[in-house]
This record gives sequence, structure tokens and C-alpha cells, in this order.
Amino acid sequence: MTGALAETLPAAGALDVDAIRRQFPILHTTMHDRPLVYLDSAASTQKPRAVLDALLQVYERDYANIHRGVYDLSQRASALHDAARRKVQRFIGARDWREIVFVRNATEAINLVAYSFLRPKLGPGDEILVTEMEHHANIVPWQLVAGETGAKVVAAPITDAGELDLVALRERIGPRTRLLGVTWVSNVLGTVNPVEEITALARRAGVPVLVDAAQAIQHRPVDVSALGADFLVFSGHKMYGPSGVGVLWGRAELLEAMPPWQGGGDMIEEVSFAGTTFNDIPFRFEAGTPDIAGVIALGAAVDWIEGLGMALIDAHETALMAYAERAIRQVPALRLISEPKERSGALSFVMDGCHPQDIGTLLDLDGIAIRTGHHCAMPLHARLGLPASARASIGVYNTTDDIDALVASLRRVADMFG
Ligand code: PMP
Repeated sequence: MTGALAETLPAAGALDVDAIRRQFPILHTTMHDRPLVYLDSAASTQKPRAVLDALLQVYERDYANIHRGVYDLSQRASALHDAARRKVQRFIGARDWREIVFVRNATEAINLVAYSFLRPKLGPGDEILVTEMEHHANIVPWQLVAGETGAKVVAAPITDAGELDLVALRERIGPRTRLLGVTWVSNVLGTVNPVEEITALARRAGVPVLVDAAQAIQHRPVDVSALGADFLVFSGHKMYGPSGVGVLWGRAELLEAMPPWQGGGDMIEEVSFAGTTFNDIPFRFEAGTPDIAGVIALGAAVDWIEGLGMALIDAHETALMAYAERAIRQVPALRLISEPKERSGALSFVMDGCHPQDIGTLLDLDGIAIRTGHHCAMPLHARLGLPASARASIGVYNTTDDIDALVASLRRVADMFG
């Protein structure tokens, strides 16, 4: 790290970030003839060689459909797929491998819970409680089932600093609340919510909790047995794994009581035209051929993260985020849109006189990839009184050099519009 403020960074533990970067081929490519500075990991992380190799290896050496063939190759693919489930189980501290349901992404996991767990319990006047900082994935599925049942979605407010208002949240939990859906880390504000405290609040009121861990799983240790939640969801593509595979974790006793939500192969026990009986969890929720290679490569991503050590990843990113926050505040006319006490992964801002879209386009010309727009959080932007914002977000491969490049480019934008 050679950034101007690099000396202000605490020692980044034992993480050798240069060595980590060498494992990501895409980080050594260019955009508009400039070295790529990738600061959009909240949208999706890049993939290390270990994950790319795992994908290729499955298709080159271990590929067949799973849970079907008696032949060796199918059994090998099945064993690798099963092993990935156990890796994910261990990674998030689940008691039982049957609590890990493979789906396409966090969005599908929330839809599964909305339709299979919640919809049968909903009636007119019931409430689904979310927060103003949720991603659309943790709003719209609930609105769909609410619309079908006469229930409604209500939102707990945030403070002007961009934190959850816990007092208001507690007041919103009432006798009609059927579920609380809350994000662990906001993909826009970067706010880390006190999820253990929140789940404790909800549990005291007998309200089940779904934690959206899409922006937490890649940044901090996750232990579902300590969390007190009932469901937790995340996507593989935001944790250095492939796109197309995600995870629903649910308490076994809840999953066992839930009806299937999609029908087809693999999710059945016995089928006849007289009627069908269903498979045990988690297979009951995994109709059809899954993303076999994707799941196996997600297992490789888990191995890769564990090889680095989540505590070290967290330490590196926390230090880098603090550095970024300090540096970006020096840019004229720029305003951060949140000031949370604890921040993870993302930093969003606006600039006087310059639309976020223009910031993104100008940074792109410097090889810098950031995200602009509403970041799938339109209600949050409405609450903030902003049509859009610009967001820089980091992964374990980012360095102070990346932040310095971002800040230099933002200064040029500020000069142009100032
Ligand atoms: N929740 C949060 C907080 C997110 O940031 C995202 C992705 N931006 C999602 C849910 C949805 O993830 P996916 O698109 O992978 O389903």
C-alpha cells in the first residue's frame, strides 16, 4: 500500500492483500485503458482463482447430474455437492446440514420464505415489519404475499444518521406483526444493524425474524446459532462465489413445517396421479436440477474465505473503510449520506451540482467502477430525499491505492462541476 494516508492504517494483521489481488485475474485488466479499480463489490464481488478453478474442474472432471445416477461420476458430483452444503453449514454455524437450502440468490430465498412460511399464516390486517433501509428484495416479496392476503407491509424508520431507530422499531412490533425482515448491513448506508438485539426484541414478542445477510456474509463472522434469527439469506456472488447460487438458512423445525413452494423432480418422495408425497428438508425446497457446479464453487469460496480468516478480512476492511471515509470527506462539495456508528463495506455520497450518474460515468473513464442510482432501495432514497446516490463498496482485495484513485478522480469531478 502506497496511499498518502497509508501510514494512518493500523497494521492489517497477517493479510497479504497484494497476494490476494494476484488471485483475481480480473483485477489486472483495464477499463478505458486504465487499470481497473473495482469498487462495486456490494453489487457483486470478483472471483478468485480457487473459485474459477473449482468451476472449471467440475465441468472438466466431476460433472454429472446429482442424486440420480448409480454410476461413479454422478456419485462423485453428488458427494461434492453434499460437501458444499456441509461447508456452508459450518461457515454459518448451523446445527444441521438440513437447514441449508440452496436457491438462486438472496432474493429467491426471501421469496421462498414469503410464499411457503408466511403466506399461509397471513390474513387481513396482519403486518409484515421491515425497515426503511431494506433492499427491494426484502420489501417486494412481502408486498406480494400481503397483496394476496389483505396483510400490509410496514416500515420501521431510520434516523438522520442512517441508523435504525430501535425505539421506533420496538413500538412497531405489535400483536398483528407476523414477521420482521431486517438487513444486517445496509447495501447503501453501510450501516451495521445490531441484529442480535433486534432478534431478541422480536423473539420476546413472539415474532419470527428473517435476517438479510447479503451484505454481511462476506465481511464479518456469521454464527446463526448465536444470532437468534429464524431465517437468514445470502447470495454466493457477493462472497467471491459464482452467480446463480444462494442460500436460505432456516431453523429445522420451521422448515420441516413448511409446504413446498415449487414442484418437480428431487423435491418428492413418491408421485402418483392419486397424489404426491414430499421429500425431507432441504430437498423439499430444491425442485429440479440445481446449479451443481455453482454450489460446488460456492463451497470453494467458503474454503477460500476461511483460508484467509474472517477476522482478518473484517480487520482489513474495517481499517480500509475508515481510511476511505476520512479521505472522501476531503473532497469538495461531496456529502456522505450516512454517518453510522458502525459501517461495513459501503459508502454512499452525493455531490453538489453533479448527478450521481455523471459521477459514475466520469469515474468509469478513469477505470473506476462504482455504482450509481437507487441501489434497489427506492424507499430509502425517498426517505433521504434523494433521487439517487453514488456508492463505493469494497472487498478484501481493495487497498488504499484504490481509495486514493477514487478520491483523486472525485476531486477532478468536483473541479469540473464546482
Ligand atoms: N439484500 C441486500 C442487502 C442486497 O444488497 C442485495 C443485492 N444488492 C440483495 C438483498 C439481493 O441479492 P441478489 O440480487 O443476489 O438476490
